[in-house]
Amino acid sequence: MTIDLDTLVQEMTAWRRDLHAHPEFGFEEKRTSAFVAGKLREFGFDDVAEGVGGTGVVGTLRRGSGNRAIALRADMDALRIPEQGELQYRSQNPGVMHACGHDGHTAMLLGAAKLLAADGGFDGTVRFVFQPAEEWGRGALAMLDDGLLKRFPFEEIYGLHNAPGLPVGTFQTRTGPIMSAEDNFEIVLTGVGGHAARPHVGNETLVAACALVTSLQTIVSRRLSPAQIAVVSVTELITDGTRNALPGQARILGDARSFHPEVSAEIEAQMRVISDGIARAYNVEQSVSYTREFVPLLNQPVQTEAALEAAQAVLGSENVSVVSEPFTGSEDFARFLAHVPGCFSFVGNGDSAPLHNPRYDFDDGGLIHGARFHAEIVRRRLAVG
Ligand SMILES: [Zn+2]
Ligand SMILES: [Zn+2]
Repeated sequence: MTIDLDTLVQEMTAWRRDLHAHPEFGFEEKRTSAFVAGKLREFGFDDVAEGVGGTGVVGTLRRGSGNRAIALRADMDALRIPEQGELQYRSQNPGVMHACGHDGHTAMLLGAAKLLAADGGFDGTVRFVFQPAEEWGRGALAMLDDGLLKRFPFEEIYGLHNAPGLPVGTFQTRTGPIMSAEDNFEIVLTGVGGHAARPHVGNETLVAACALVTSLQTIVSRRLSPAQIAVVSVTELITDGTRNALPGQARILGDARSFHPEVSAEIEAQMRVISDGIARAYNVEQSVSYTREFVPLLNQPVQTEAALEAAQAVLGSENVSVVSEPFTGSEDFARFLAHVPGCFSFVGNGDSAPLHNPRYDFDDGGLIHGARFHAEIVRRRLAVG
């Protein structure tokens, strides 16, 4: 059987709009995952597993006798953002919307599943990984913790994200770091508050906190190599002081971005040294909690080369480019790359509102490009003969 691409475009558009109208927040993608599993079964999949890592779905397609396996991944979750605008297919779930285009990613991967199930053209095993809770940075780990790699082994993995501002029908990626780590931190300073007129009686924490906020800026400017890209941002300073009372406690919260695990480790280590030093200087107690929400996304050279070649075959080389700099956004796909090599790439979403904007919408014109890219990478990496 050969799939008619015009019919597939119509179907994918209908799926995408249906998903857009029924967005679900991370780990709540019950309708979405049932929709995905239903479609895969309809396409004649050998094997569809639901409930992987909560609400994840893994579909498996085998052809020929090859023993190699590759994975294609889409994310299914929406955001807690009330949708604005008057789309016919706007969100019917108040306060939740597909503002990051994961409806489009899911529809593109379903399109590839339909193409490959009908037309084959590969030798081996393809795992279609539909992950929950990308926006939280928790869904990939949940699937991995649920035995993804043991139950559905694969040797490499590919993923796509739409990019507003990039013309529809264009493709970008790069080898090495492409999306940043996101670390969060909270530093608590504890002293003795008291009357604003008598600071010498206690050990208030606000002046110490201000010194600490300033000193944290020296991590990037004075502790990291100038060749490294990193950002340390203090975003909140909260005390228990009031107009005429000095605070006994100050909390400093913030966000750090970097592109290598060693840099993230160095930021944490320096933060602990500086926090300890400032606390001693101001005679207050301190504690640092440092968490890694997203790890840096590092594309591997072999798979990136393969992705670029597949994209050129589908879109024409004039529409495929290598980005010179990584982005400081973060992506849960990075968790898979800690275990297997792979490549994450961007496809144009045209002149749309930005990601996470209440007027954002996925451009359906890009669906077929994503589906064909996914199918092409499978046919190249699991080539027949
Ligand atoms: Zn997002
Ligand atoms: Zn996203």
